Amino acid sequence: MGNPELDFSSKHTEAVSNHPPYSSITESIDEPPTYGQSNAVYRVSRDGFPSSVVVVVDECITHLKLLSAIAKLRNFIKGTDKLFGIHDGEIRNFSNNKQAQAAARIQEKRWAVYVARAVDRFTIWWQSYLPSLKTSRISTLNTASEANIAWSANMMPPLDVIMVWHAFMLNPRAFLEDCLRQSKMSVWATGLPWDIINASIDDKTLVFYPDRDSEARINFETITGHSWENIHDSPAKSLPCFGCKQEIIAPWTEGSIGCDTDVAFAHCTGYADKSLRISCPACKFNTTHDTLRVQKFRSDVQKLLKDDIPMPGTLLSQNGTPADNENSDNVSFPNRLIKEGIRSELLQLTDLTENESTTIETIRDHLEGYLKSRSIMRRVNKTILAAGNSSMPERISLRNMLSRYWDNSSPFAIDLVGAVIRQGTFVDKMDNIGWIRSPNLRSTMSHFIGKYGVFFQIMVKNKGHAVVPTLDVDLIWHTHQLSPIRYYIFSTTQMEGIFINHDDKIDEIKLNDAFAWTSRQYQKLTGGKIYSECTCWYCEAVRESNNQGLGRLISPSTLHAKANAALLHNSADNTTDGKSKEPHISSHNAVRVLAQADPKAMQTKTAQLESCWEKAQRRSHNRSRSRGGGSAHEDLSRKTVYGPYARDPDIHREIYPCNPACVNITAGVVGNCMSGTQGVGLAQGACVSGTMAAQTRSKGKSFCSGIAGCGMSL
Ligand SMILES: [Zn+2]
Ligand SMILES: [Zn+2]
Ligand SMILES: [Zn+2]
Repeated sequence: MGNPELDFSSKHTEAVSNHPPYSSITESIDEPPTYGQSNAVYRVSRDGFPSSVVVVVDECITHLKLLSAIAKLRNFIKGTDKLFGIHDGEIRNFSNNKQAQAAARIQEKRWAVYVARAVDRFTIWWQSYLPSLKTSRISTLNTASEANIAWSANMMPPLDVIMVWHAFMLNPRAFLEDCLRQSKMSVWATGLPWDIINASIDDKTLVFYPDRDSEARINFETITGHSWENIHDSPAKSLPCFGCKQEIIAPWTEGSIGCDTDVAFAHCTGYADKSLRISCPACKFNTTHDTLRVQKFRSDVQKLLKDDIPMPGTLLSQNGTPADNENSDNVSFPNRLIKEGIRSELLQLTDLTENESTTIETIRDHLEGYLKSRSIMRRVNKTILAAGNSSMPERISLRNMLSRYWDNSSPFAIDLVGAVIRQGTFVDKMDNIGWIRSPNLRSTMSHFIGKYGVFFQIMVKNKGHAVVPTLDVDLIWHTHQLSPIRYYIFSTTQMEGIFINHDDKIDEIKLNDAFAWTSRQYQKLTGGKIYSECTCWYCEAVRESNNQGLGRLISPSTLHAKANAALLHNSADNTTDGKSKEPHISSHNAVRVLAQADPKAMQTKTAQLESCWEKAQRRSHNRSRSRGGGSAHEDLSRKTVYGPYARDPDIHREIYPCNPACVNITAGVVGNCMSGTQGVGLAQGACVSGTMAAQTRSKGKSFCSGIAGCGMSL
């Protein structure tokens, strides 16, 4: 075997270069969008918007168009045989009853590798292309001219890079943290350039191409050194070896599906695979995802010591706003601990040439040990009076910092591959519902913006409660977040200084309960309007459970809601297979909490919902008999096992380096809390604490105490 670099190239390049790039596929989509017609003018003003505006219709429409372009790109990548060396031919190795599953895993894997490459390209674009602006004074950004990037078509990156940027921004606190920490505040202040994105996506084909002169392509390729087309980039990624500092080459994916679809691709050893393992030809050091995470931690410690760049997870206050001097003491504790107390210990521990087996767990264990050391704590806190023990807020600040590393070796606060994959569910649903093809698009969007206003008021009136959006409300919420400064000012003004987060992972069972609660609040606030106007079995069950009660015990808004719910059946196309094209619960960030105390929780929840649904059915049958009509009999067995609140059943953990749809809260495992902080939150960003008493949360002073629907955390 010769030079591994050459071997990889010759093996994979052929397969990759045979494929036409996405942008050369120009056939029309099945149903051409109608939003370009005269009844739907959607040009976005270049002058910006008055500050009182929350979201405007044109932005929502362009957003939908972008999501459709991403959905089309995803379908194209999934269906491109042999891309990244992933062959459809492997399906034939499976028995007939497993072939459909194998085909789905192969498609999912292709997309996973594509997204991992997109994140890599985004990272280089972010670091090399975007201007720098360092400030934490958000109030000055609105007026400062240097804070406004004058986007033009020839500055646009390719669609895959925009897709990553988009998913990143839908994690508002993580995005703000990284813009602060990496001095990209003008990117934060400017937001997504909607007008240029709109002009860059062809209305009919949904192909993304910013300018006819290819200046955007030339600029991107010159500055980043990457090809405009993701699939034309190198089949391998070069990394520095931590053992000898020489360059090593990792294929993006290496291996085949294997013989069991349940663990498809789990053993693959490429950079975008779960079991990355590259042995350095020179020094034999093994690079794995674990060593990459430790290296990220080490390089962050070095940046703190050398350039005074704070550790990730230490920049925002518990409200999600930039920590200032008054409230930063606890938040910035990890920085103080590292600088004043344990710098040499940490540098030694994370030196992989000496301690090849160090992991983030090892680092966590050491940090816990330091917290128990009175002499270190006295030195760090510069006190001789106190006992020297660490306090709860200090522990929580350490946990917040560590949460940036468990599943993440990227330079960002979160794993962006997971962020893009979780958005995939939402992108698909938007594409399936097909508002973009509706002749009433503008009035539909105006209606949703109104619903979003009510949704926000529910959050304002119920601080600390999980509030879950429907898909239509979530579209508007996402659009709002894509103009970060406007969303920030709106949120902090309405919520007394709290920057509402989105997209924390949330346990699916709690998501369901919070959705039912939100539906009830919506009815109350609007005098009986219906939150989810969908007629799938799940939404019927939620409405039934919310509107139970008889006679004078029932409130006027519930009575109105019951009447409105009955009307739905007259107009709606009743969907009975458990799937719906209507905008019901938005659950793109639902995750499954492993080691949940009750493994049957999901079945119990489904059984409760079923019983409510049956009651609703009985009433609906009575109603249709009295009208003389015959409603189609609904067959329970056709209903899906998973409610629409469940995590995306199409995401399979073994396909990714980090599982995008699960968290593990078993004591002592990777990702679990610092000991002593369990009461405050659970694993890494798994904000599943919606049932916790309010005072526990405030006592804990955690950023992560929140309780998020599609993901709000307070
Ligand atoms: Zn080496
Ligand atoms: Zn529904
Ligand atoms: Zn969402």
